[in-house]
Amino acid sequence: MKKKPLTDDQYIKNPNVCPSCHGHDVTGGQIKIDVQTTQEVTCDTCGATWIDVYQLKGYMELKEKEFTENDWRTEVYNGDTRLGYDEWVEHKKEMHNDMIQNAQKEHRGLRE
Ligand SMILES: [Zn+2]
Repeated sequence: MKKKPLTDDQYIKNPNVCPSCHGHDVTGGQIKIDVQTTQEVTCDTCGATWIDVYQLKGYMELKEKEFTENDWRTEVYNGDTRLGYDEWVEHKKEMHNDMIQNAQKEHRGLRE
């Protein structure tokens, strides 16, 4: 007897089976990234084919720039700098390092 195809909910809970025959022998094809991310899948048991649909879930490992172009624009606007963006970032990093080094020196001074 033919099994009823899985519903989306059932499939999401158990995505490594064939939605038609419920067999585990499935092969994923190329992943296509467009408006939607999809992957063609083939069941090696019954020959059924289908397309998995992926959904954006969120993001991870956010790395923020320490000195952004917006910060730079603000300083240029306020007349605080005449440097180009790249030079300004270098300058800011140097100032930041000096600050850390001075703080470390002070720290060492306190211990001596
Ligand atoms: Zn199958």
